[in-house]
Order: sequence, then structure tokens, then C-alpha cells
Amino acid sequence: MKLMELVVLLMLPKGSKVSFRKQSILLKTPDQVDKMQASAEILASVFINIRKMVKPGITTGAIDEAIETHIREAGCIPSFKGYHGFPGSACISINEEVVHGIPGERVLTEGDIVGIDVGVIKDGWHSDSAETLPVGLVDPEAVKLMKTTEECLTKAIAAMEPGKRLSVIGSAVEDHAKANGYSVVETLVGHGIGRDLHEDPQVPNFRCYTMPDPIMEPGLVIAIEPMINGGTKRVITARDEWTILTQDRKLSAHFEHTVALLADGVRVLTRRPSGIAGL
Ligand code: MG
Ligand code: MG
Repeated sequence: MKLMELVVLLMLPKGSKVSFRKQSILLKTPDQVDKMQASAEILASVFINIRKMVKPGITTGAIDEAIETHIREAGCIPSFKGYHGFPGSACISINEEVVHGIPGERVLTEGDIVGIDVGVIKDGWHSDSAETLPVGLVDPEAVKLMKTTEECLTKAIAAMEPGKRLSVIGSAVEDHAKANGYSVVETLVGHGIGRDLHEDPQVPNFRCYTMPDPIMEPGLVIAIEPMINGGTKRVITARDEWTILTQDRKLSAHFEHTVALLADGVRVLTRRPSGIAGL
């Protein structure tokens, strides 16, 4: 490790996943992108179901169970189940929980916002997507946070183009979040995806000067996943050693799509049949 890298590493928040190792990006052939698209279509259909289920009174465990059943009935495997020991098929994170919430007995109540993150494996290919949804009627501030986070994702996708550097994604997210008075979580990032759930490159949601910034080429498939906080960008890990929370307990929202860059443009593989945020 060079001295400068060491200095930067010491300045990073505890628990940061930033890595200096050389990245190796596995570009996908058009054929492989089609296979990932098939996985992503199952995942998109899961989300259409989830939207109908998210209501006051339901437990996060019941939502998780329905997600697992849906995925297995489609002949697929939930990517997250057992991943590093994670017990659920979905990460379900409520209000001040940013990501990685464990589904269980907790009951959704009117006014909550709930982030649901799901991955699917079909024929060995992963897809990964997340949405934050309102539970019944929610505060206008919460609506604005969710809307802005979804817009951050849309703007990041729109910034992708062959020949541009990966950092256009982080710049697009950071600018839009900050223009709306929000902060961007920096200790968790998006990622390449394919035969593995998490591949290179790491995809920061902010201007990051410590990670590699490769030029984007056709065949790049990544999961872009802005995590936007109403207050501080600082996050902590809960006692369950999974759930990530905002340090100031203010609300957080998370949206994610699996996206392929092709020679003729961008394909949003996890695009919902009914469309979200105009995608
Ligand atoms: Mg995800
Ligand atoms: Mg992801």
C-alpha cells in the first residue's frame, strides 16, 4: 500500500468497504446479458407483487415468505438467502434503517417507509433490485425523500454511456441528493453483477477519489443503488450485526436497478413492467 493510500484509508469511516485492490471487470456478451435479463424479469415481477402486499398490519416476515415462494415457484433461487449467513430472501429496512434489515416479526405501521431489496438467481445469473415504498399514508417529507432517491437512480442511469468514466454515476447521484438537502451514504456502494451477486467494479454513489474509475465499455453490467439519508450521511450497524441505520435516526431511502451497458445504449434489466420513475 502506498503512503497516500494509507493516509486516505485512515480518514475513511470505520467499517468502510472501500478497497484498493485492483479491480477486474467481467464484461458480458449480448447473449449473457439476455440471460441476465431473464433473471431480472422474474425479479421485476416479484416487485409488482410486493407493492400489493405492503400495507399496515403485515409483518416483514410475511413479505419475505411471499417473496421466497414467488422466486422458487418461478424455478429460481433467492440470491440473498444464506449469503454470508443472511437469514432472509429479502432485506427489509424500515424508516431509519438504510439497508440489510432482517425480515421477522416486526409489523409495518401506517406512516412507515420500507425499503425492500431482493436478488434472484436464474440459470446461474443474478439480478438485484430495490424499492422504498410508503406504508399507507406517509409524511410529505418522507415522500420527497423517496421520490428524490428514485430520481437519483434515474439520473445515474441516464448518465451512463460507453466511453465515459464510471464516476459519472456517483456525480449524478450526489448532485441531485445534495440539491434537495440530503446526504449520500458512502460506506456502502453499488457493484458489478453477473454469475456472482457482487462483482467488480464497485459503484460509489458519490464523488469518490479513492476507488478505481474505469471507462465504461459495452458489456458492463452493474447494480446501481443510491442510499440517500434525510440527515447525516453517517451510518451505524445495529446489534443484529446486519441492519445498517442512520446515525441520527433520520429517514433513509434506497432504490436499485440492475443495468447493462450495450453498444447501442443502456438497458435497465430490472425495469418494472408498469415502469418506475419513467424507466
Ligand atoms: Mg440489492
Ligand atoms: Mg446490490
